[in-house]
Amino acid sequence: MSTPKSRKNQPWIECVSCGCTFLSKDTEKHTSDCPPSADNVTHFYINNGALVGDLDIKKNDEIKGLSLNEIENLVFISQNAIQLCDLSIGEFVMIKAKDFPPIVKKVWPTVERSLTSVLLSKNVLDLNFGDVKTYPNVVVTKIINPTKEAKKISLILLGGSKLGNLNQVLISRLNFAYRESYCVKEIN
Ligand SMILES: [Zn+2]
Repeated sequence: MSTPKSRKNQPWIECVSCGCTFLSKDTEKHTSDCPPSADNVTHFYINNGALVGDLDIKKNDEIKGLSLNEIENLVFISQNAIQLCDLSIGEFVMIKAKDFPPIVKKVWPTVERSLTSVLLSKNVLDLNFGDVKTYPNVVVTKIINPTKEAKKISLILLGGSKLGNLNQVLISRLNFAYRESYCVKEIN
């Protein structure tokens, strides 16, 4: 049982028992789920700089001054959550959903949806979570260990796919990102 510490006129409450920060509307849920279970998410929260939030689609994907490619490299989170997670705008974060490979995007503020929403463009959602009926909950965390840039990317086409079938959009993105330092193999 927790004793939430309320901050007046703030939408967030910090639990003195487990250290999680959650929305005041979820006080009851947090009281019966403190510390929150990572496997069965009953409410969204921030703990140790990690946001456990609800993944959803960025509806308005036109942002002044940004190209579609740039927008697809972004994850949109409320300014509030960015601050509570001690993130900076433009900082790379890791987005991990159960059973899916983690993805890395740059943080950008948004006022769309809720304070705990984690929004990605439709293309990014289709690419990474396209086969799900409802988007999973995700954990957004800082990238603490410095990552190295890949020297070589290999794509292996399965199921009898031929090189000619490779999506032109994918090819131009690979060219843009890796400047020919990738190779594609056909497996017959
Ligand atoms: Zn708690």
